[in-house]
Amino acid sequence: MIVNKKIRGFICTTAHPLGCADNVSKQIEYVKSRGDVKGAKRVLVIGASTGYGLASRIVQAFGAKASTIGVFFEKPAVKKRTGTAGWYNSIAFEKEAEKQGVYSKSFNGDAFSNEMKETIIETIKQDLGTVDMVVYSLASPRRQMPDSGEVKQSVLKPIGFTYNNKTMDFHTGVISDVSVDPASPEEVQATIDVMGGDDWCLWMKALKEANVLAEGVKTVAYSYIGPSVTHAVYREGTIGQAKAHLEASAGVITKELSDLSGEAYVSVNKALVTQSSSAIPVIPLYIAALYKVMKEKGLHENCVEQCYRLFNEFMFEKEVPVDDEGRIRVDDWEMKEDVQKEIVEVWKELSSDNIETLTDIKGYREEFYQLFGFDIDGIDYTQDVDVEVTHPNVLSVVNK
Ligand code: NAD
Repeated sequence: MIVNKKIRGFICTTAHPLGCADNVSKQIEYVKSRGDVKGAKRVLVIGASTGYGLASRIVQAFGAKASTIGVFFEKPAVKKRTGTAGWYNSIAFEKEAEKQGVYSKSFNGDAFSNEMKETIIETIKQDLGTVDMVVYSLASPRRQMPDSGEVKQSVLKPIGFTYNNKTMDFHTGVISDVSVDPASPEEVQATIDVMGGDDWCLWMKALKEANVLAEGVKTVAYSYIGPSVTHAVYREGTIGQAKAHLEASAGVITKELSDLSGEAYVSVNKALVTQSSSAIPVIPLYIAALYKVMKEKGLHENCVEQCYRLFNEFMFEKEVPVDDEGRIRVDDWEMKEDVQKEIVEVWKELSSDNIETLTDIKGYREEFYQLFGFDIDGIDYTQDVDVEVTHPNVLSVVNK
């Protein structure tokens, strides 16, 4: 089948298997070019198919030669519909792991479910005995509660007031005013239920009770803070409440792991183009402005570069460097005073007329399409490609 990109709003409804495989192999090449990374031996990555989770898995598997188990929620191809990018990324990851002789298994299904937790525990018992690191990198708009079956929906809204700011359509480069109504208390709670630390705690509790965590186990989940221009809709909005809950959960988990001398961390990462971040109002425009400033200063990093630095310079240090609130800060370069000062200046001037020159919207667009395997040099998009790719190590887990 010939696969072209089909854009609907902030998502692309098609994905190109060869382009996605190329994205994975470029990340692997980067890791190999850097040499061995500090890391674990047996790693579980929850949210392992795209963005930060995929990058974490690649750094650990190909930089630290760790055995990895990945969990994600993706779709394989059905008839004329292509699979999702995360599906193709995971197939490509499994093929590479097989080639390199690194243990790897992937599970496609709902990480919030009891079924997935049970399946992963059984797999760890059978194949690895224990894991010594768990990366929690889920980004989801909804969660089916494991016991009641109720579906909670997260929202990206301010709290207490209507938020007005600039936003962009990155396909057209048009900047417009956006107004986002405040969330109701129920919406705030639902967002915490979906994106807060509850499910991370449930995973760690289940793994510990099943005796599949190694002595000295480490776990990390990802958070974001960002600058004041995005605070109303991010850090002080519904998603920020969820992130605050996630951050507090690290303390709870560390206490629960004390008899194993285990440690839980939250790493605050840099804003990057991923499927999740492109759905947040205002953030894509901020990212386009940020990319220009960081690239000019030689400070720009992508997901795999961020994860490499996280594992090599923070997570496995004897004294893990953290901020006053106990968080790892690999957003340190994004939050540098000179970087943020320039963005504040640019932000005041931004309009549809100058967006191409004042921001890196071109880079944003390019990266967005590349997430789905498009616009990659060296790939002939006029050629037929097999979209129904599978791998025996990618297994599906269905909720009962
Ligand atoms: P992403 O959309 O690229 O990845 C999300 C992952 O979660 C995918 O592997 C997806 O399959 C998986 N997933 C979603 N729902 C699932 C479910 N029910 N069961 C199993 N898997 C499921 O997102 P990302 O941007 O890499 O975000 C990962 C984490 O990093 C999030 O916590 C996010 O807040 C954080 N973060 C992102 C940024 C950014 O700018 N992108 C910055 C800092 C922190």
